[in-house]
Amino acid sequence: MSDDPETARQIEELASDDRPLLILDVDDVVLEFIRPFPRFLEERGFGLTFSSFRLTGNIAERANGRLVDQTEVWALLDEFFEDQAAWQGITEGAAETLSGFAGQAEIVLLTAMPHRHRATRRAHLDALGLPYPLLTTEMAKGPAVAKLRGPHGRPIAFVDDQPPNLVSAREAVADAHLFHLMADNSLREFLPPLPCDINVVQDWHDAAPKIARVLGL
Ligand SMILES: [Mg+2]
Repeated sequence: MSDDPETARQIEELASDDRPLLILDVDDVVLEFIRPFPRFLEERGFGLTFSSFRLTGNIAERANGRLVDQTEVWALLDEFFEDQAAWQGITEGAAETLSGFAGQAEIVLLTAMPHRHRATRRAHLDALGLPYPLLTTEMAKGPAVAKLRGPHGRPIAFVDDQPPNLVSAREAVADAHLFHLMADNSLREFLPPLPCDINVVQDWHDAAPKIARVLGL
């Protein structure tokens, strides 16, 4: 199990809080990614066609069909995240749900992206009226989830669209309540069956009462 020292440092900066904890992924949970990213690619002459739940291998140059390799995908993602304010809106229902929980739970955003994009994402979230603390990680999310919980075993709900992140959280925190939320539910067909202790939710309207119940809000 890995632990990102920069993420650990960011967690140390948070004020201590003993309210129930709600940890949220950002891309395709709080901010739209899979809808705007293909439009961004199109502007640059690329097309995204899913035949599996990953970007590499599914992005091609439109002029000649050449598949984009991993290094180019990273470069495109870098450019997209640099310019995220122009592309990424709020996932439907997220803002109202979170503001409804804000007094009663500690809400923390945990995004798997290079630390160098943290300030850009922070500014964009602030501009969108999402003031919740933002942590970046370049490693597995589970250790960060465990560290965020703190010493007193408070209830945790964790929402992510990437099953490996939920599995990582389960490995680190046995009693975390895990929610799988996808901005585009049609992509579920490309996923293997989820472990049965992960709650599948269709959208924020479905998720909100379920999260409230497990956190006792
Ligand atoms: Mg995500």
